[in-house]
Amino acid sequence: MALRFFNTYSRTLEEFQPLDPEGKIVKMYTCGPTVYSRAHIGNFRAYIFEDLLQRHLEARGFNVNRVMNLTDVDDKTIRGSRAENLPLADFTAPFKEAFFQDLGTLEIKSPNEFPAATEDRYIAAMIAMISILIERGLAYQADDKSVYYRINRFPNYGHLAHFDLAELRSTGRVKSDEYDKEHVGDFALWKAWDEEDGDVAWESPWGRGRPGWHIECSAMATSLLGEQLDIHCGGVDNIFPHHEAEIAQSEGCSGKAPFVRYWLHCAHLLVEGEKMSKSLGNFLTLPDLLAKGYTGREVRFALLRVHYRAPLNFTWEGLAEARQALSRIDEWLRRLRETARLTSSPNESIERDNFAAALDDDLNISAALGELFEQLRVSNRELDESMKPERALAWLQWWEKINRVLALETSEEKVPPEIEQLVEKRKQARQARDWQRSDELRDNLRDLGWDVRDTKDGQVVTRRAGA
Ligand code: AMP
Ligand code: ZN
Repeated sequence: MALRFFNTYSRTLEEFQPLDPEGKIVKMYTCGPTVYSRAHIGNFRAYIFEDLLQRHLEARGFNVNRVMNLTDVDDKTIRGSRAENLPLADFTAPFKEAFFQDLGTLEIKSPNEFPAATEDRYIAAMIAMISILIERGLAYQADDKSVYYRINRFPNYGHLAHFDLAELRSTGRVKSDEYDKEHVGDFALWKAWDEEDGDVAWESPWGRGRPGWHIECSAMATSLLGEQLDIHCGGVDNIFPHHEAEIAQSEGCSGKAPFVRYWLHCAHLLVEGEKMSKSLGNFLTLPDLLAKGYTGREVRFALLRVHYRAPLNFTWEGLAEARQALSRIDEWLRRLRETARLTSSPNESIERDNFAAALDDDLNISAALGELFEQLRVSNRELDESMKPERALAWLQWWEKINRVLALETSEEKVPPEIEQLVEKRKQARQARDWQRSDELRDNLRDLGWDVRDTKDGQVVTRRAGA
């Protein structure tokens, strides 16, 4: 089956074909965090879905050029920096750092670029885009000195969100207390400075001010990936107005449509039926879960295992199930490694591609995991019936391919070669019934942070708790 994704723009499943004439490079933009607090695990549901998408595309031979922005200037970051009495950059820096740390713990691949909105080159790009939009009559400066997008001039406005704006459009000029906009739906491209902004301001042809959130993403995306992209992702809450505005701005400037070929949005992580969000106060961060004894890979698996377009309820049982599923995988790998230890050359390979085929179908992770656990069952039965070392190695190689996409077994969990060597020496000592040497080696391993247990299948090595 061909690779296909559900495109929010058309609301249909579409076969994936990148713009690159050679069909190799995929240009992908994903909206990143607003760095005014630590990202919560709801945000990480979105980033893990995007990571799965990138990894599957790579497994299918594409070369993904991915950009994720950091929103480091907006109402919330400014409010936070004022409350803490810190310059904006000093206020946002630790949250950027914490975000990178969490990405690492969750094994989310680093994008090729992490542009931050406040970098000079992007502020310049935003100003350049707004100037073009004004020239083309798509934007105007209002009496409050802010610059707004004139949505009435962009006929496609509302298409992504499937909103019928006709009624809204016909209402004509609307004055609100807050703004002096021509139309209630017009959104800010450039916000004129006001007292609340403190010393956060840039010079522009329209006076001192700062960019609106939507133009930040259009400018960073087109600066780094060009006027047209293959894939743009985010959570469903980004569809309107954020992504709708990005289309209006980017296509309004370039004159080229579509700005994005495939729009992919993930459903929310919920807590008792409501979106996990900062504003509702029902959120948990990764450190909250680590403090309760869960590991990054357990959290990753819990957030990954449900189809990205289906809402996912956060529960502690869900995390316990993730832990259980991972321990099944770990036990399976331990048995395979124990069996494969006697060989280094597989003379066969496991040709079962249903895992990847399931992901081809709009990232059907449930079917893909179903296939993985089915193959676990099959190969565990082979192990029960005495598997040849070469066959075990072939299964391990099959797993390597799958793990490149799931990233559930990290280098940290893998037993390093020097530890493997000590384990092997201990095995030989035990075969020679040299129990003293065996105990010494166990103590050595313990000092290096590894526990060893003797089972009917041989030694089991695990990282010491807290090591
Ligand atoms: P923000 O920092 O609020 O701009 O959000 C960053 C990303 O996380 C966006 O793609 C949002 O759509 C996404 N997001 C926010 N809350 C949730 C949630 N509860 N579940 C899934 N994605 C979310
Ligand atoms: Zn964005």
